[in-house]
Amino acid sequence: MSICYLNGDYLNIEEARISPLDRGFIFGDAIYEVIACYDKKPFKLKLHIERLLKNLESIKIDLELSNSNLSDIINQVINKNNSVNQVIYLQISRGPEAIRDHTPQDNSTPTIFVSSFPMKVIPKIDIEPVEVIMQDDFRWRKSSIKATSLLASVIYKMEAKEKNVSEVILHEKGLITEGSVSNIFCVKDKIIKTPSLEANILPGVTRKTLIEIIQKSEYGITEVDISIDELFDSDEVWISNTTKGVVPVFKIDNQIILNKQEKFIFKDIFKLFMTEIQSDKSQ
Ligand code: PLP
Repeated sequence: MSICYLNGDYLNIEEARISPLDRGFIFGDAIYEVIACYDKKPFKLKLHIERLLKNLESIKIDLELSNSNLSDIINQVINKNNSVNQVIYLQISRGPEAIRDHTPQDNSTPTIFVSSFPMKVIPKIDIEPVEVIMQDDFRWRKSSIKATSLLASVIYKMEAKEKNVSEVILHEKGLITEGSVSNIFCVKDKIIKTPSLEANILPGVTRKTLIEIIQKSEYGITEVDISIDELFDSDEVWISNTTKGVVPVFKIDNQIILNKQEKFIFKDIFKLFMTEIQSDKSQ
């Protein structure tokens, strides 16, 4: 049984209750964060809270909790749960309202929920490369907001499951945007590329961390448009997110991504990523 935080209380998850009239349930009027926690220390917590506060502002949810209150709640949830490696799921909705109306009331009280799950897979260097498929990006135009209305991602993930692949890489007008639950990187002739934030993507915390790591390394990185053809012509393709870290892709739409270079840059970057996790833990 896990312990969660809900609107001021720490509870067994089975005892946590919210109203069916909560705008998060009725409209998906809510935003969320997923935070990896290694050895009971949340990884890149500051970046997650910064993104959360930005998202709250962009959908005009006024929260009385400060940045340090939020960190404190997250740390308390981590400490009240047993696993050393956890995934924290945090959701803030605009809260319950007595009458269903798209237009929010001015005085609704946000619902704040923080929960913990044991981390299923810890990132490791010899992780199995994954197979993915491509799909047209039919999501809304504000994918930079980490909104809980995730029906498009659910549809993509159902298709991935049917085809027995791990992820769906999305494209729009011939250009790669991101994965259904991840950001995309590709490597060609030792140059690493990732779509820029202008591409209607989520500004992933893992993406930002990887960009900073790569900038300090012997390799170069550019945030640019990546065409579908370029993606297939890559030496390496990686997907990144909080729960999996960074994972290499070996097949896209049944086509093998061939590495004609002698060495996988993935391994070098992965080692630097693990060092970043270690140094974040010791802060
Ligand atoms: N893009 C999408 C659509 C996502 O859902 C996610 C994570 O779930 C990411 C990118 C990666 O973001 P992060 O690295 O912050 O987990």
